[in-house]
Amino acid sequence: MIKQQVDVVVVGAGPAGLSAARAAAQAGARVAVLDDNPRAGGQVWRNGPAHPPAAALTWQLAALRSAGNVVLLSSARVVAPLDDRGLLVESAQRGALELGYQRLILATGARERLLPFDGWTLPGVTGAGGLQALIKGGMPVRGERIVIAGSGPLLIASLATARQAGATVLAVVEQAPWSALARFGIGLAATPSKLWQAAQLTRGFGGLRYLTGSVVREAHGDGRVERISIRRGASADRAADVVFDCDRIACGYGLVPNITLGDALGCAIRRDAAAGSVLIVDHEQRTSLDQVFAAGECTGIGGMELASVEGEIAGLNAVGATREATRLHAQRDRWQRFARRVETAFALREAARALPSDHTVLCRCEDVSCADVREHTNWRDAKLQTRCGMGPCQGRVCATAAEVYFGWNTAQTRPPFSPARIATLLEAAPEPATASE
Ligand SMILES: Cc1cc2nc3c(=O)[nH]c(=O)nc-3n(C[C@H](O)[C@H](O)[C@H](O)COP(=O)(O)OP(=O)(O)OC[C@H]3O[C@@H](n4cnc5c(N)ncnc54)[C@H](O)[C@@H]3O)c2cc1C
Repeated sequence: MIKQQVDVVVVGAGPAGLSAARAAAQAGARVAVLDDNPRAGGQVWRNGPAHPPAAALTWQLAALRSAGNVVLLSSARVVAPLDDRGLLVESAQRGALELGYQRLILATGARERLLPFDGWTLPGVTGAGGLQALIKGGMPVRGERIVIAGSGPLLIASLATARQAGATVLAVVEQAPWSALARFGIGLAATPSKLWQAAQLTRGFGGLRYLTGSVVREAHGDGRVERISIRRGASADRAADVVFDCDRIACGYGLVPNITLGDALGCAIRRDAAAGSVLIVDHEQRTSLDQVFAAGECTGIGGMELASVEGEIAGLNAVGATREATRLHAQRDRWQRFARRVETAFALREAARALPSDHTVLCRCEDVSCADVREHTNWRDAKLQTRCGMGPCQGRVCATAAEVYFGWNTAQTRPPFSPARIATLLEAAPEPATASE
């Protein structure tokens, strides 16, 4: 197996990881930054055949190149931690790789929170961020009628991407009530750059319905999505359904931090079934483990600007440049305040948290229904009795939903974190003891 040793390893090449790598490299450290996507940029700067890289990403990559001491590994994922400051990496270009480090920076970002509804497994239903990723990857949607639903600012980013690609967005369905959104909108005056961004992305919602205090009730279709029912109103007695004929539904209820690697390493975690569990960091972005830092959305959902400044602080502290890092604290505080306002405005309300009908599939990998899971008192029991969360996605979707519906702790990190080649795992396995030993 190829072995490589550097001063700083950064996992994740989104805004946090790239800022961390740049800060550490510019201070002279030998840095390796890796990401499981084929192109650097993480979620917000995702690019592809139909979507050129954003200017900010081009700038970050140029700065890394000019530092000269950075290895950027794309299509490379950490499948397991190794003893003694090492990571087992599977790289599309290099095969199995053992990456050794003095300092580790976790910048593993977030995942979309998908909450099931009747019909959510029909072809044509994706997450809101999922739709964006597909469009940026080249999926044509020109002329399609799309409904975007769920909660949070990602719906608006998804709206802009879908429109730009030529789709007709019929409605944006937001679970948060109008009153919370109005308060949030007024508060945007404190961050004019965000106000401007929102205006650019929505174009005032011209030509579509913007339904607040509403959730998706059901997707209908024969082999593919043809129609969506949306429940308006919080209380069942005053609720009314609205129906749209559509070709596609993109539904995501915000984001949850991706703490898989930090959890496997043993970093301290703050468990929160409502907002998603986060890696705990101090003001220098240090985790509870010696020489392991974390930045960006694995430490809490906060958007690109917060992720970038946290990454820079982590990168500087990882190379001992604490004074330079301290100068960025005020900027981080400002974006953290913004993140708290977003969290309050888009907190999941009762209608979104309500368990869907008994026959709705909760775990699509193992075909387990909500009724099957509801029978059990905790996640471990549900897994053992129903195989829920034990399929190829290893609970990325259903465990997150079960946390919301049942308040369970669904932490279950066990390497390998994602499907890995047997050869990769064998190379990392300790030599078996011989008969004479
Ligand atoms: C699907 C989706 C779409 C989004 N779209 C937008 C948008 O359009 N606009 C916007 O403002 N915000 C968007 N966001 C929010 C976005 O997450 C943040 O604003 C920002 O990208 C966070 O930066 P980050 O560096 O913390 O994480 P990310 O940008 O998420 O980067 C983390 C990277 O780490 C990689 N990674 C994780 N684990 C491993 C591992 N074990 N091995 C290798 N690599 C790993 C991930 O694949 C990812 O590329 C989106 C989020 C999601 C989940």
